[in-house]
Amino acid sequence: MAEKDWNDWHWQLQHRITTVEQLQRLMPTLTPEEFAGTKLANHKLALGITPYFFNLIDPADEYCPIRWQVIPRIEETHTAAWEMSDPCGEEGHSPVPGLVHRYPDRVLFLVTDRCAAYCRYCTRSRLVSNASGYDFHPEFDRQIDYIRRTPSVRDVLLSGGDPLLFSDEKLECLLDRLRAIPHVEFVRIGTRIPVFLPQRITPELCAMLRNYHPLFISIHSNHPRELTTEVRDALGRLADAGIPLGNQSVLLRHVNDDPEVMKAQVQKLLMCRVKPYYLYQCDLIAGSAHLRASVRKGLEIMEQLRGHTSGYAVPQFVIDAPGGGGKVPINPDYVLSRRADGVVFRNYEGKIFEYPEGPDGTPLVPAPGELEEPELV
Ligand code: SF4
Repeated sequence: MAEKDWNDWHWQLQHRITTVEQLQRLMPTLTPEEFAGTKLANHKLALGITPYFFNLIDPADEYCPIRWQVIPRIEETHTAAWEMSDPCGEEGHSPVPGLVHRYPDRVLFLVTDRCAAYCRYCTRSRLVSNASGYDFHPEFDRQIDYIRRTPSVRDVLLSGGDPLLFSDEKLECLLDRLRAIPHVEFVRIGTRIPVFLPQRITPELCAMLRNYHPLFISIHSNHPRELTTEVRDALGRLADAGIPLGNQSVLLRHVNDDPEVMKAQVQKLLMCRVKPYYLYQCDLIAGSAHLRASVRKGLEIMEQLRGHTSGYAVPQFVIDAPGGGGKVPINPDYVLSRRADGVVFRNYEGKIFEYPEGPDGTPLVPAPGELEEPELV
């Protein structure tokens, strides 16, 4: 295979690994759990891995963090009563197909059900890849019309599926239509393409995107091994186009549920010019128990990041409230008590401090008799 082909994003997409036979041939170390899961995968969430991302898998390591994210396992068929196909309750907040309006001033605009590769813990696996027959058909005219008729919407997040799978022309047409709405101040794109398919981040794409500022991009990376030189260069091209970049990670068992791994990840993200934005507790997606780490582990990781590395490197840990309550920030307990004369709290080293203030939060002032007379000159 020529280097030219490898660097061509269309070639990468055309040569994705999508069948158990391909997987077995390329990775003879497939375990029985993976083999059984892969055979069933195309009924739930399709198997799809770009050759570039597949190359990052260590075939000798059953617990390779890249492998756990994209190779199906039989545990995906084990579902519990509290798991859901729509754990964030998006369907219940959808005024028109493909649009989710949960928060007051922003909407989630689903543009496609396709991704460059498929993450086995995907929150939207009910529709993404169309393996389970959801039959997702976004209706851009209705989605845009809703935004036009709703002046409270000032922020639009394009997601899916992956919006950067669109051709430059198709994406530009959508951005044009959104930018023509006067109350849309801010557009964001949620994408995993820079990680799954960095070849897609072409100079032409970046030149087009820079015409639509303020435009932010949220990428999705979970492990420092994903941040290769190709990914770093692709992110650099986006940053050079003036696009602020944030990262969303999902806390995953066997992948990044380790404070040292997460510390390496967030520090490497900064080196790639990306601000770690959110660390998500894995949603209660059906068949994801084998991938979910505990909330306690998430808090332990946050405790090991805050104060121990640059503040810019510290994401916000959140749980998307099951059933549709939105993102809720979850933090270690730094406030130890609230007293009548102040707040008692601890720092990252466990040292205890007090901030004086009144019971209602007003600043404490000395009683009049305690005031010192200023000296007259
Ligand atoms: S890239 Fe995003 S939308 Fe696509 S499968 Fe992964 S988590 Fe789901």
